[in-house]
Amino acid sequence: CVLALLALTDLSSAAIASRIRLLSRERDKPVAAETVARRLADTDPLTGLLNRRAFLATAIGREGPQTLLILDLDHFKQVNETLGHDGGDEVLRMVSGALRALAPPGGIVARIGGEEFALVTSTNAPLDPNLLLARLRATRMPFDLRVTASVGTATGPLRGETDCKALYRPADAALLPAKSVGRERA
Ligand code: GH3
Ligand code: MG
Ligand code: MG
Repeated sequence: CVLALLALTDLSSAAIASRIRLLSRERDKPVAAETVARRLADTDPLTGLLNRRAFLATAIGREGPQTLLILDLDHFKQVNETLGHDGGDEVLRMVSGALRALAPPGGIVARIGGEEFALVTSTNAPLDPNLLLARLRATRMPFDLRVTASVGTATGPLRGETDCKALYRPADAALLPAKSVGRERA
């Protein structure tokens, strides 16, 4: 009789534990759904990188001097004309893979425009832009097409939106001479 009672207690405590698990799963469901929704809203669907909005929200407010690197693919219109739009999309995914692979720990990578990517790193853990360009040169693109990029960088604080504008402007402006001098350079 005691054994039977013990077994019953065991069973009921197992049932209670399972019910608690079920209830807490139910309780967490809205939270999980919200997390998934937020993650989707922050993500560029083509590359899985942060989108522009999420990038700004994440990058702003970082402590200490930061380097903003902007990468713009060269003659991407021609890449699309040669490979088709789907081929162009594949190139964008490969570029995002290269950026992701080389981003130092703590770096933030995003696709901030059609064929424009950004990386923010602390100046303590920088990424040499020439390393990135070399990685792209070594990346096998669809149909072995040669795809290159130009890079502009700027360094400064990134505490607020004003800092962000002050960093973006020179990094973006630095792309112009890189393009006009012959592209595939930082
Ligand atoms: P530059 O070397 O001066 O940067 O020339 P570019 O041709 O790269 O510059 P432009 O900004 O004129 O062209 C960008 C092209 O990127 C145009 C647009 O069709 C293409 N593009 C933008 N978003 C996407 C995308 O999601 N997928 C594909 N395949 N192409 C895209
Ligand atoms: Mg561009
Ligand atoms: Mg371009």
